[in-house]
Amino acid sequence: MVGRSIFGALALVALVAVGVRAQEPGPFLAPKAEPAIVTPGRTSADPPSDAIVLFDGKDLSRWRGKDGGAAKWNVRDGYVEVAPGTGDITTADKFGDIQLHIEWATPAVVKGEGQERGNSGVFLMDRYEVQVLDSYDNKTYFHGQAGSVYKQYAPLVNASRKPGEWQTYDIVFHAPKFDDQGKVTDRARVTVLHNGVLIQNNVEIYGITYNDRPALYIPHSAAEPLHLQDHGNPMRYRNIWVRRL
Ligand code: MG
Repeated sequence: MVGRSIFGALALVALVAVGVRAQEPGPFLAPKAEPAIVTPGRTSADPPSDAIVLFDGKDLSRWRGKDGGAAKWNVRDGYVEVAPGTGDITTADKFGDIQLHIEWATPAVVKGEGQERGNSGVFLMDRYEVQVLDSYDNKTYFHGQAGSVYKQYAPLVNASRKPGEWQTYDIVFHAPKFDDQGKVTDRARVTVLHNGVLIQNNVEIYGITYNDRPALYIPHSAAEPLHLQDHGNPMRYRNIWVRRL
């Protein structure tokens, strides 16, 4: 009996010791899987080897127009220009979590004011807009200027270049998650660098970025297309690539 109780006590001590050890901070075990090798682009604007190139300046074969037909925007000289009135263009591919690189330019000849000047938009998962706008010396509501999560978050700073100059967005996006009832359990999150400057720092998106009503979530698939907005201005895009995360 005595031997047994000693054994029991030792076992208890061992369990406590294991428990204490489990709560200690690292060192952490090395992950078993080696990180995949990705060959970076020539510059950080060029697509790395695991990117899907959505537009390389030549054609819109990866994009669709308004009714699922051909995208009608105009491709020339290595860029695509919005053909106002033809509608948004949408990727054929669908995406969840992504890293996105996209370059854009507002018209060199300035026309209009506020939201009517150089407006377009990058719609993540077809629903969540990172605003594209000529925000160089152009006032509008702050959560509607370039780099805003439209009507939810103003950019941290205004890193806009002049009209007609090429600008970049580098976006890291995490898709929202929904439970079986369609209730959002994890909001979408987005980080945006504008011309290399951090302007959205992992913000939680409140839902669809409506123009005319409060944001809300409506459940959707784990992967949805990207779309670019035709807001009536002849905006230009080039060098669009995406990595699935
Ligand atoms: Mg817009």
